[in-house]
Parts: sequence; structure tokens; C-alpha cells
Amino acid sequence: MADVKMNSGVDGLFTVKMRASQGGRHVSGAERIVPVSRISSVFSALAERALRHSKGVPDFVNLKAEAAGDVRRVPALPVTTFEVASVSEGWEKAKEILRAAGVARADEICGRFRETYALRGAMLLDADTLERLDRSGGRGVRATNMDSSSPSPASAKNHFAEALVLASKVLSAPNIVAEVCMSDDPDYVTGYVATRVSGYCRITKLKEPGDEAGGRIFLYRGHREDVAATVDYLERQTVLVETERQTTTDVPRRFASIERELDEIDAAGLRRELRTVAERDCCRVVVNGRSLVSFASNDYLGLAADPRVSEAAADAVRLHGVGSGASRLVTGTLPPHAELERRIAAFKGGESAIAFATGYMANVGAISAIAGRGDVVFSDALNHASIIDGCRLSGAEVVVYPHLDMDALDGRLVGYHGFRRRLVVSDGVFSMDGDMLDLPRFLEVCRRHDAFSMVDEAHALGVVGATGRGLSEYFGCGHPDLMMGTLSKALGSAGGYVAGDTLVVEYLRQRARPFIFSTAPDVAAMSAAVAALGLLADGPELVARLRQNVRVFVAALADEGIKVCTESAIVPILVGDERAAMRVSDRLAERGFLIPAIRYPTVARGAARLRAAVGFRHAEADLLAAAHAVGDAMRAG
Ligand SMILES: *Cc1c(COP(=O)(O)O)cnc(C)c1O
Repeated sequence: MADVKMNSGVDGLFTVKMRASQGGRHVSGAERIVPVSRISSVFSALAERALRHSKGVPDFVNLKAEAAGDVRRVPALPVTTFEVASVSEGWEKAKEILRAAGVARADEICGRFRETYALRGAMLLDADTLERLDRSGGRGVRATNMDSSSPSPASAKNHFAEALVLASKVLSAPNIVAEVCMSDDPDYVTGYVATRVSGYCRITKLKEPGDEAGGRIFLYRGHREDVAATVDYLERQTVLVETERQTTTDVPRRFASIERELDEIDAAGLRRELRTVAERDCCRVVVNGRSLVSFASNDYLGLAADPRVSEAAADAVRLHGVGSGASRLVTGTLPPHAELERRIAAFKGGESAIAFATGYMANVGAISAIAGRGDVVFSDALNHASIIDGCRLSGAEVVVYPHLDMDALDGRLVGYHGFRRRLVVSDGVFSMDGDMLDLPRFLEVCRRHDAFSMVDEAHALGVVGATGRGLSEYFGCGHPDLMMGTLSKALGSAGGYVAGDTLVVEYLRQRARPFIFSTAPDVAAMSAAVAALGLLADGPELVARLRQNVRVFVAALADEGIKVCTESAIVPILVGDERAAMRVSDRLAERGFLIPAIRYPTVARGAARLRAAVGFRHAEADLLAAAHAVGDAMRAG
């Protein structure tokens, strides 16, 4: 539960505090001093931090913001690090630093350090008489209300940066001459001694790893009647410590804006994490030691792990080695490249084809070769990012037309007749919605305006049309000038291609920069794709079974009250809110299904969704169980 208190404050700085506990036991805490405009993003970053703490999920999180009032700025202490080999050497170093600051009874002071383990705050000792001056019933003195003037992201804990800020405030308090501190984090064995003479001295080992003991001592030298003022300063005075990035986190100052942006990505619930898949066998993956039925792969026909495909790749490597060694135009063209290009051209019904190392490069290369400055590209509003990047890189004028709106496209083309070249480009199957281009209509519009037509069939090849040849087969119509597709989805390999008339393909060989200036795709990928094409050409039942699986899944979702539309193997399940989509996806993972949430910037803000990719190898029972789990997870919100 989160208890949010918000005191109304004047313009200017606020202190934001987070405290999290579980069963009454402190789990984590943090504070920030921020302008009003940053309060909400820091709230969510601190909430994330509280909820993701390694000590476990808290049952109480308190987030509080109050106007900071009078703010004092103090410089950060200079930092020195002492590498020590053992705990005893570490404590000898601590005593040496205290003595250098004129604290004669350093031995006895360090001897009393264990008394601080039980305190929430610090023990306040007279530096000379060793009399204990904190009187608040065993709680100790809590140094709080401080922050760095250039903090690291609120969502991440940085022991060193936070300790330096605290020590700099403590040593700026009246009559404090030194501080000794050791963290209670069992994994963090570095402690420090701070004095007015030596600054902040990090000592790399004050305890053994795994030790949960931690505490701090503040040393006071002054009149007894001034103690109250010192405690008041430590506990209540708002202090901003002027840290240089270099000294607080060892991160150069130029990185500050990058860190801030990461902080904002976190706060918006848009931080992405890489998940390492330990094992996979087509529709099962093992993630974090758990086996999940996966709906995350575009390997629609299960060919990526097909032994006939893998063997073809292995054979090619045995014969030709791994790397191609040079670009295609130098000495990089090996027999597998030529064969793949022949086979793709034949499969797609084009005269020729050109292969690229990735589909991304195929789009960027083809679009920027056909269109340049003085040309114009018409692009569907929901086209894939690689098409968008190709448009940008081309330097051509870009006209974005509404998604699948052929009348709008027709209208826009009218206004651009004076241009040298006009290229219209569209996804064949849209990667996040699974819907399909009306190819006959598209071709008719392009031809009438004598514009180049280009269709990206990344999600259509192997999926659409009775034998998986794509949209032309499905509609029984002609093809676009540039038939682009990938080897990395249904073909289970890696790479991209453009097929079409020899004239166009030859032009791309001369002009497509990713083809000219990048090393040729590896032979394993080419030969694997050739083998996959062979299996596809021999067995149209692959495609038929995939289509049947999609029907089963869509019907089962409908039984759960979830209506989805798809003309491919991509089943989008719309959620809307980014965090809600993450929650639904997490819940599905708990039930044993990996159905990833897709968020901005891949789809529009507020259009977050689950994207299920149905595969040839999904068992009917898995499809039904997954649809049922989706229903439950969506109802739970
Ligand atoms: C995946 C994809 C690409 C990029 O292909 P890669 O081989 O992964 O680089 C291009 N266009 C669309 C529509 C895609 O879905």
C-alpha cells in the first residue's frame, strides 16, 4: 500500500522521501530534493526502487513530498580511496585518519562502533570525553533532508554517491569533526571515515561480505549547550551538496543528461529489460529457470530450430567458414549468397533478388537508394521502424499517409507530380496489428500515378497465401516493384532481401549503401534460409497448419470475450495503458505463458498491447490454455 502525503508548497524545491518496510522492518529509504516539476517522476522512480528491493517486496511504502524551505548549499568533501586487504587493516586505516584529524582516542571510539548496530541513526559522541550526546532513547541522530545538486537516477541506489552527500552534510554541521560509517548492506563492505582535515576517505573493507551489521558515529567537539543546535541542523536543515559528477559517481559530467533521460524512461514505465533465454525449443523458452510457452517469436513455422535448417547452416560453415570477409562487391560473394538470391527470386516470382544481412538493412538500403534529395516517399503511418529510418536517411521528402487509407494515398500523390521519383512504401502485414495491405488497390493507385511501389513482407512470407508466397499469392494479383522481406521470421534464419525486376535489383547492387559498405551476410544464414525455403516449397501443409492454429487461438479468445482481428499469425490484444499491459504480461508469465507487452515507442502511447505470435508448433491444448489465461489476466486488470 502507498500512503501519499503532499504538503502544498511554494514554488521551488521540495523534499521527496520514500520509506518502505515489511512487517514493521525497514526495507529501504531514500530522499531527493527536487523542483515541483520533477515530483511526480521522482515519486514513481522511488516507488519502483522500493518495490524492487533485493530485501523483498515491502508491505508498506510511504512517499512524501514537502516544501524544502530554507536550502543551504555546501561543497562535497574531497574523496580519497584507500584499498585495504583485510578488515583489520581497514580499521587501522580508519583510526589513522581520525588521529590525523586530532582525535586522540581513536582506538576506543572504533571499539564502541558495535554499539551503533542497533540504532536507526548515528551515535553522537564527544570526540574527547567519549560521552554519548544523543539522547533520543536509542534511536540515534538521523542525518536527513539532503541531496546532491546533480543526483544519479532515483530508481537506482548508489551507495557511494548517497554516502558522500550524507557525509558532506554531516561535516558541514556546527561542531562535527568526524564521521565513521559502515553500511548494513551485506554486499557492500566499503566504509568510510570523513573528517574536516582529510575529507571523505573510502576504505575498501570494513567488514566481511554477508555481514549485515552497519552503523555510524558522529564526533562532536564543542560546548555542551550547542549540541541541540547541531542535532537540529543534522535532522532538519535542508542541504544541497554541490557534487561534481566526477566525484560522486565516477561518471563524467557529459553523461548527466543521459542518466536523466534513463530516469525519465523508468518513471514512465517504459524501461525495457533484456531477458536472457537460457534454452528454447521453438515454442518453449526457459527464462529465469522457468519454462514458458512462448508467443514471442516470429519464427512462425518453427524452422529456426529445425534440424534440417540447422544442418544446412552447419554444412555451409564447414565448407566456407564463418565470416564472409568482405563486402559483396569485393570478395564477399560466396555460392550460398548467389543461391539464396536465385531461390528467393523464384519463390517470390521476381526476375532477381538481392540479399542483405538483416531486414532492417534491406529497408534502409532500398529506400535510400531509390529515393534521395528531390524525391518523395509516401509511407503508411504504421510502417515498421526500419522503413521510417530508410525514409529519414534517404533525404527525400516524406509524406506519411493514414494507415491503410488508399484514398488518402491517392489524394496525396496528386500533389507531387513534379518530383523526379515517387516511392510508395507499406508493410504487407503490419507487425504490431497483424492487419494486411489491400495489395490490388495499392498497386492500382501506384501505377496510375507512375510511382514506385514497395511492400515489406517480413510477416507475410511463409504465412500469407496458400503456399506462404505472400500477398500477391493471397490476392492473386501482380507484385510491387520492390518486394522486400526478411529471412529472419518465418524462414527462421537471419537476413533481408529485395526481389523484383533485374533492372531494379541491379540498381540496388550499385546504390544500396548497406549492401556496398557492410560485410556480406554470413553463409550460415544464407544456407539456412535456402533450406527453409525448400521445406516451405515442399510442404504447403506447414502454412495450412499455422493458419489453423491462428483460428483456434482467435476463437478461444472470443470465448473469453476478447475480440481480435488478424489476417496473419500476429494476434494483437489491446490493453491501452503501458503499466497495465506490463501487469497482464507478468501475470501470464506466472501462469506459464510468455506473451510480451508492446509499448511506446513501438506502438503509440496509450495503445500498449500484448502481441501474441502464433506458431506452427503450438499444440492445441497450449493455445486454448493460453487464451484462457489471457482472459483471466485481462479481467484482473
Ligand atoms: C522485423 C521486421 C523488419 C526487420 O527485419 P530484421 O531481419 O529483423 O532486421 C523489417 N520490417 C518489418 C515489418 C519487420 O517486422
